[in-house]
Amino acid sequence: MKNLVWHILLCVALAASAWASNKVDAEQVAKEHKASFHWFPVQKTFLLAGEGDTLKFAIGLPYVSSHGNSVELKHAPEIADGHILLDSADVASLYKTDKTTPVVPASSSSVAKVSSSSAKVVAVPATPVPATTAAKPKNETAGTREVKTIVIDPGHGGKDTGAQGKNSNEKDIVLAVGKLLKKELEKEGFNVKMTRDKDVFIELGERANLANQWDGDLFISLHCNAIDASPERKKQIKGYHVYVLRAPESEEDKAIARRENKVATLYGEKNAKEELTPIEWFKLEARLEKYKQNSYMFTEEMLKAFDGGKIKRQGGGVGGAGFMVLVGALMPAVLFEIGFISNPEEEAYMTTTKAQEDIAARVAKAVSTYKAAVHNYRETLGR
Ligand SMILES: [Zn+2]
Repeated sequence: MKNLVWHILLCVALAASAWASNKVDAEQVAKEHKASFHWFPVQKTFLLAGEGDTLKFAIGLPYVSSHGNSVELKHAPEIADGHILLDSADVASLYKTDKTTPVVPASSSSVAKVSSSSAKVVAVPATPVPATTAAKPKNETAGTREVKTIVIDPGHGGKDTGAQGKNSNEKDIVLAVGKLLKKELEKEGFNVKMTRDKDVFIELGERANLANQWDGDLFISLHCNAIDASPERKKQIKGYHVYVLRAPESEEDKAIARRENKVATLYGEKNAKEELTPIEWFKLEARLEKYKQNSYMFTEEMLKAFDGGKIKRQGGGVGGAGFMVLVGALMPAVLFEIGFISNPEEEAYMTTTKAQEDIAARVAKAVSTYKAAVHNYRETLGR
């Protein structure tokens, strides 16, 4: 029995080290196969655009899109030391050759570094209909049509307080910001809906259902972040974060999604779960593909709007994880962690009316510039 356990452990270790020794740098692969390499830092996706085919990869997802089909990979692409790594066996089967040379990421100086916080993002609105097909789509969906209806989702409520600070609850801060945001957006002429406008409990799934019923163009879920740590660490960890629905790349992002998803399991919601499996992710990616680009576009506008604000970005300010509240929304959607309620300074700030007004004004600005960007893009398509 003991031998068997050791045997299993050895196999696992061998498998892990085999993956470790067979990683190839995606940019080198592109060079070797005369393909151009494109990296999208916010989306954490990349393309190898060759003559015959454009391969589309996503960090953390063991699938590649090739000739419009999804093909399973042995290993999900990953980032290490600023390099994007693929499994050489995957590369060999994709290019039907074995000629790729493994590279050691840390010692390879010829390869450009990627930056996850780069502001240069190529975000194009979702366009399922190419410009060449002159016919106007009959029923334009959220993301391709003009932006009119904004759904504001103040997180938590009622028996679910959300994260708790020293003197405040997440549910109250996000409701206050949500109400102010509604006012701002209505001034700009938007049709605004709120999943809750008072202190009531609403299930995560129901929030997305409401947004779909209202046929929203953009879904904004408002939250406050929190960490469970020593008082010293709580003082250090602060900042805002915009989250999109995307396979998480870090344990931190995963933990945040688990915390926000916990409410569903806690209160016995149907189909409640704290994490998605890789295959569920993949199915979801395919379904949400058409909203993704717009979610990233809006995220970019959020980053710009919050530049110069009192609450700074935490890290790059953008993350991805499996937030259940976003899963069901059939429209571009983000989850905004305004700041850390566990950080005394940010908690004190976020509970003031002045701060809530500033935050609401910045989100409203991001919505307006996003609306203009979508409009401009439509014009270029002659819609
Ligand atoms: Zn929350």
